[in-house]
Amino acid sequence: MKSLRENPLRLQSTKKLKAVMQRYFLRLEEASGTKRRKVAWCSSIGPCELLIAMGFEVYYPENHAALLGATRRSTEMIPLAVAAGYSADICSYLTSDVGAFLKGVTPLSEAYGMKSVPKADVLFFNNNQCREVQDWFMFYARQWRVPIVGVNSPRVLDEVKDSHIRDVVSQLKDVIPTLEEVSGNKFDMDRLKEVVRLSKDCTIRWRKVLEFSGCTPVPMTFFDHCIHMAPAVILRGKPEALDYYDTLLAELEQAVEDGLAAVPGERHRLYWDGMPIWGRLRMLSDQMRDLKTAVVASTYCNSWIFDPLDPDRPFESMARASLECFNVRSEGFKESYIEQWIEFCNVQGIIFHDAKTCPYNTNSRFAMPSRLNAELGIPTLIIDGDLNDLRCFSEAQTKTNIEAFVEQLQEMVKTRFPG
Ligand code: SF4
Repeated sequence: MKSLRENPLRLQSTKKLKAVMQRYFLRLEEASGTKRRKVAWCSSIGPCELLIAMGFEVYYPENHAALLGATRRSTEMIPLAVAAGYSADICSYLTSDVGAFLKGVTPLSEAYGMKSVPKADVLFFNNNQCREVQDWFMFYARQWRVPIVGVNSPRVLDEVKDSHIRDVVSQLKDVIPTLEEVSGNKFDMDRLKEVVRLSKDCTIRWRKVLEFSGCTPVPMTFFDHCIHMAPAVILRGKPEALDYYDTLLAELEQAVEDGLAAVPGERHRLYWDGMPIWGRLRMLSDQMRDLKTAVVASTYCNSWIFDPLDPDRPFESMARASLECFNVRSEGFKESYIEQWIEFCNVQGIIFHDAKTCPYNTNSRFAMPSRLNAELGIPTLIIDGDLNDLRCFSEAQTKTNIEAFVEQLQEMVKTRFPG
């Protein structure tokens, strides 16, 4: 029988995560369609703190779309959205989510016993990440004849200037009357400060979880982060997220002390840029483990670190947090951001995922891999795929490319450290 150290670390916190998610969806189900509690839909890096402070239960359709991808239901849903007039080339989160709605199904039924996705009373987008979220939410605003509000954000920023912050702050304040009308609650600045404080505390904990990527061997990989990031996405601003990450952090600290590894015999370390391939997380995780290669960090999972949040300056700090996000920034900023994480995690190579339906979260199309390769002297690999549309992904081709890439890493290590 193998010793604990030879087996990949299986995080026990996952059980608690399931219970936390169950309670979150139960609350949404109870609120949906009632007069007592209202439901707001929010884009995943939108200002959820304002919605929570106004008394809404907040639902994140990107989380739902990722679940459609992870359960491999998305590919059968996309054609329904295409038949309704949406292009198959636009975001496959949008097309799989809209397709599932048109079909009247949701993976939330099987996972959490929900009858349907919760009906929105108001929809709040922030197009800092892409234009798709606005069009996606418009579909539901038309279906249910409910208000849609949002922030039209500046994009591709090298430096976040005061003028950008003022612009976003004024847009956030402009939506308050609509939120008051829909929720039936008056805006309360003290309540907003409290929610921003909770959200900041969540960010501090999530950052600590991700910084375990500096450990060798690493106790948790990018593929684990994709699962355990859920509270940072859907429960930030709530005490439940803090409690969950305290449990996970304690487990990770113990694992490091005990020398346990996510990839036993870890030989190589990689960085992932771009969206996850939700329907192939397990396949990729298994292949990497067999190759004794740990994908230790990613820009995607780091996107829910909101360092600028400050309860003493709630509006300004929410605006800054949304504008300083990785995918709102210029190429130059992105490159230096990736370089810092490469150095911190001590990785030997970078995988870029070219997600066919998400140009916004794809950074391989304008020669960034070549520039980073020249700058850092480490190899890069581009994988063709998609977040949800598995018709864009070849399992055989990807496996072959990854194997060849890891062989290249082995050669590189032998050359640099002969003997
Ligand atoms: S950022 Fe990409 S994956 Fe996310 S909603 Fe926008 S287009 Fe879709």
